[in-house]
Amino acid sequence: MVVPVSARLDCPLCGAVVVDGVDDIAPGACPQCGARYEGGEGSAPDAVAAALTAFGADALDPAHVTDAVFRLSPAESTACGVAITSDARDDFYRWWLFVRTGPDGDPVAVLASL
Ligand SMILES: [Zn+2]
Repeated sequence: MVVPVSARLDCPLCGAVVVDGVDDIAPGACPQCGARYEGGEGSAPDAVAAALTAFGADALDPAHVTDAVFRLSPAESTACGVAITSDARDDFYRWWLFVRTGPDGDPVAVLASL
């Protein structure tokens, strides 16, 4: 039997509700600030590693990025445009890495600046 789950994800950079009440969350972008988010793994290091691959930032060290993003204060996250957060589900959650790049932005450059 499949138990339906209701998943919700809020943008850690601007506070907007990205998705709510869905069965599962797919990578995408914040409807308010445009930050892209990738990951969706059960642990933060796994989510960062998956996100780096999705952003084309394989050259970066996932352990370094994970460590750096958790050291950011909320104000620092907003300033540099990178934040990690977990979604909310009925009985578990997954981690997502948000990167805000602007119109011509390069997520690799943003992540490499951490
Ligand atoms: Zn946002």
